Amino acid sequence: MITFILEEVVVKTVYGRRVRQARRIRRLSVSFLADKIGVRQPRLSELERSYTADISEEILTQLTKALDFPSRFFSVEPQEAFHFGSLLFRAKSTLTDTDADYLAEYAGAAGEIFQGLSEHASSPPVRLPDLPHGVSASEAAEIVRQQFSIKAEEPIDSLVRKAERAGIIVILLDFDVRLHDRLDAFSCWVGDYTDRPVVVLRSGASWDRLRWSMAHELGHAVLHRRQREGDIEAAANEFANQLLLPRSMLIRDWPRTPTLMTLLPLKENWGLSLQALMEHGFRAGLIDESRRMSLYKQLSNRKWPDGKRWREREPGYNLRDIELPRMLGKMVEVGFGASVGLDVVSAATGHWPALLLQQLLGVQLTRPTDGGRGRPVTSPPGKTGPSRIVSLSDWRRDEASEGYG
Ligand SMILES: [Zn+2]
Repeated sequence: MITFILEEVVVKTVYGRRVRQARRIRRLSVSFLADKIGVRQPRLSELERSYTADISEEILTQLTKALDFPSRFFSVEPQEAFHFGSLLFRAKSTLTDTDADYLAEYAGAAGEIFQGLSEHASSPPVRLPDLPHGVSASEAAEIVRQQFSIKAEEPIDSLVRKAERAGIIVILLDFDVRLHDRLDAFSCWVGDYTDRPVVVLRSGASWDRLRWSMAHELGHAVLHRRQREGDIEAAANEFANQLLLPRSMLIRDWPRTPTLMTLLPLKENWGLSLQALMEHGFRAGLIDESRRMSLYKQLSNRKWPDGKRWREREPGYNLRDIELPRMLGKMVEVGFGASVGLDVVSAATGHWPALLLQQLLGVQLTRPTDGGRGRPVTSPPGKTGPSRIVSLSDWRRDEASEGYG
């Protein structure tokens, strides 16, 4: 333990990891924060590396203010177990370390909040297949379909719900706008034994993109937890396509003349974007390279009246609603009641800032949880107003009919 005080002042014990977590979530550099709270940078680095440290009440107050985290947060023992999962692959190519840390801390926070909620409400155990070595991506997709009890000829209604029932924590997060072009989703592992997957989906993406990202990350979770040989991105893509639409069904339903319009019914029925269908069809040998290129060109060249290209907003963008995760919100409701305030949830799950809980849980909650103090419930991406939020009666009906089965 290190000590940061010389005189007789009130001493507070904090966890170094908690300071680092809060700083990374706020995307502040060590030097910036050190400056802000009036300590030297090496001192702050030392504090962050220490398991626990004694600091003066004054510095704790400064930290609390600069980071906008409740002061009690810093004295909650942290859960260290975390595995970067697919973020690791991403971080190597498209993300800076700061970006990766920022995203990882959010996912880690989701894991800790889940853990906290688990003490108040039951949660589904993780049920993902343990695949034998050498299983192909498409075989893995078939095994997962079986595990989800979905027949080959049956489209998956809500993949997010299926994933949640298999024990995966799914978060819809509006992460930093600078990352939007570089990242649609990522997954990682949390829990005492890093055995619980967290999938973070970028809110604001269209329903088909979100759904496909969910399938892709599920692929990473199933295929690449331990083995990372070969082209893992291609494998996760293949898994996603095969999971959402098995090849045999793709062949059965493929139109005689594949155009953007004749592919649209497949998009609607199977919930796969036109671009994913084009790739899927190409890999299955249903279209050749020139047909594939010509379809891509059409998507790129055609525009909506507002100037957006079809490639950015595909036809069929409004065919379905976005699949919203619900597991954490449901646990809040079961554990604390539907009208609980986020301050209560915060106190029970590690004193995370209420706003961060709002970011992570907002779309999963059926009503504002701040006791009417004016903070709006986050609208699902791309939609406005609370009408799109799952109503309590729907939720209850789901619970009654499905549970976490
Ligand atoms: Zn990936």
